[in-house]
Amino acid sequence: MLEVKQVRKEYHDVLQTVTAVDIDSLIIKDGEQVALVGPSGSGKTTLLHLISGLMTPTVGEIIVDDISISDMPETCRDIWRAKTIGYVFQKLNLLGSLNILDNLLVAMSFANSIPKRERQQWASQLLDQVNLSHKTAKFPHQLSMGEQQRVAVVRAIINKPQLILADEPTASLDQDNALLILKMLRQFARESNSILLVSTHDQQIMNEFERIYSLRQVKKGVS
Ligand code: ADP
Ligand code: MG
Repeated sequence: MLEVKQVRKEYHDVLQTVTAVDIDSLIIKDGEQVALVGPSGSGKTTLLHLISGLMTPTVGEIIVDDISISDMPETCRDIWRAKTIGYVFQKLNLLGSLNILDNLLVAMSFANSIPKRERQQWASQLLDQVNLSHKTAKFPHQLSMGEQQRVAVVRAIINKPQLILADEPTASLDQDNALLILKMLRQFARESNSILLVSTHDQQIMNEFERIYSLRQVKKGVS
């Protein structure tokens, strides 16, 4: 279960304070699939960063399975994140100097959740499911946008995370690829009873979800 309790995240610069996220309570149960919606600048990316522990809140608490992530020491948090969170970044963040298979093997070695001798086979199996088994030796720049997005999704689910966070994973895709990506994420989350939280402003993607969580426009104030 994910609990976001009275969380606020402020960014400060010389001229102003921006309250990017201000949430009283958000609770998502295991197996729930939620669309995170709001206009550009409403704090979707910030909230996903907070939940993954990549950023800490200015005030408030984020609790995953009874563990408060802001209380964790940094080193524990990195290991916890690798094991617990699957993140599809808005900018994908595939490692350009590694081929597709190595990108996946690196992600598995960080988390150390899949036994070593099974890793190659598991990566091949997932790549096969997204019709990319012939691209394992290619580098990210040799793949189309849709193909890279599929690799990013495979990388996000490869360690069987309890929480899958996807930041506008379909934004740069055509409708067919967008629905394919969403189908993969939802199917994986269902099979492993994981939480799925997908940020989007695509109406057709929103329509696929039973639960929608909306963020308001951010507040700006003079600091
Ligand atoms: P979204 O993903 O919904 O577009 P973001 O979380 O990226 O929204 O941004 C929310 C607000 O916080 C915006 O007003 C944005 O300008 C501001 N913001 C985001 N990152 C930073 C930062 N590193 N420093 C200052 N302001 C930021
Ligand atoms: Mg964003």
